[in-house]
Amino acid sequence: MTTPFKEEHQHFRTTVRNFAERDLAPHAEEWEASETFPNDVFKRAGELGILGAHYPEEMGGAGGDFWFSVAKAEELARARLAGVTMGLLVQSDMATPVIADLGTKEQIAEFLIPALAGDKIASLGVTEPNAGSDVAGIQTHAKKDGDDYVINGAKTYITNGTRADFCTLLVKTDPSAGAKGCSFFLVPTSTKGFTVSKKLKKIGNHSSDTAELAFEDMRVPARYLLGVENMGFMYLMQNFQSERLIGSVSTIASAEIMIQDAIAYGRDRMAFGKPIIKREVWQHKFVDLATKVEAARALNYRAADAYNEERHVRKEAISFETVKLISMAKIFAGDVVSEVADQCLQFFGGAGYAEEFPIARAWRDQRLFRIGGGTSETMKYYLARLMGL
Ligand SMILES: Cc1cc2nc3c(=O)[nH]c(=O)nc-3n(C[C@H](O)[C@H](O)[C@H](O)COP(=O)(O)OP(=O)(O)OC[C@H]3O[C@@H](n4cnc5c(N)ncnc54)[C@H](O)[C@@H]3O)c2cc1C
Repeated sequence: MTTPFKEEHQHFRTTVRNFAERDLAPHAEEWEASETFPNDVFKRAGELGILGAHYPEEMGGAGGDFWFSVAKAEELARARLAGVTMGLLVQSDMATPVIADLGTKEQIAEFLIPALAGDKIASLGVTEPNAGSDVAGIQTHAKKDGDDYVINGAKTYITNGTRADFCTLLVKTDPSAGAKGCSFFLVPTSTKGFTVSKKLKKIGNHSSDTAELAFEDMRVPARYLLGVENMGFMYLMQNFQSERLIGSVSTIASAEIMIQDAIAYGRDRMAFGKPIIKREVWQHKFVDLATKVEAARALNYRAADAYNEERHVRKEAISFETVKLISMAKIFAGDVVSEVADQCLQFFGGAGYAEEFPIARAWRDQRLFRIGGGTSETMKYYLARLMGL
């Protein structure tokens, strides 16, 4: 495959790299300790055009293709701060693509344009206390009442949840119809009846806030329904593809950085009179890890190419063939990053366990990837169906 990155992507890469290295990385320890990061980070990313590069100009974007988003995810990894990266990617690639696809002019003006500018913070509300992998089992319910819908229920593990200005919320509009009874709403978090019930403590991604949300008789005007009522599950499956693919790209970029950091450490760290990187056992291990990272990147790019072609060039729905590729890429990226993180931490010895180097943070942060946005097992469950097994 020839490089998909042209000169304009490379310029954009430099912008994101500078942002990651200058505006994010120096604050890593402070933001991890405070378990949040300033809202200004969204604003700065918006001002630099980082959030909207791959959205149409009339929606506040720069009209670029999906490779801008790939470049963004790769460069953000340089901050070695997965929590902040996750918050930003939710804003640009997880809570918002569905608005670009389905939003009315008014919805785009009220939610998408301010989100891409970093003026409003977005969250995606799908998972519930009793339904994660099995999305069709959600119980949050919207009942039509005159010109409004009245929503009751709860969501959990919602990234950006404690401070979002709006939530792209999946609910049941026809509880008797299973997956065919789901709908998306855009809900301003200032709506009466919306509560952040809890900020969750996590084992990693500390700088990202993750919340439990509750909705009690929350009255949402019908104009905030996104797309067609009861088509939400289908919209979600399309939206998930962007989330999973960009997550895989981000994860593999962080794996590559872990390897680079480990090799740099191993050149200086002496044991038995030699730098530890001079031990053949480790050299071979790094050769294997680097090979797996290359293979995972190749699969990510193959999936990104298919996604870009369908979504940005032909402007079509994502095909089952591309869904298959993206699911495979996510599973593989999750396995590769876990192995890389574990081996790199081992290579650092006690320093890796003591948080002296970013590998400790990277090791616990990466663990999310085999769970969030669809577990590896759920990906395999769907893949087996797509493969007709
Ligand atoms: C830090 C963090 C941030 C998140 N951010 C968001 C967010 O912003 N918005 C949002 O909506 N959600 C978010 N999530 C939720 C995430 O997407 C879910 O946790 C994930 O989809 C898994 O759902 P679950 O936790 O309910 O696990 P469960 O569905 O309860 O799964 C439990 C176990 O059962 C396995 N399992 C389930 N079904 C099958 C099957 N068919 N075959 C084999 N095994 C199966 C799973 O693989 C898993 O191992 C976040 C989660 C975390 C931890």
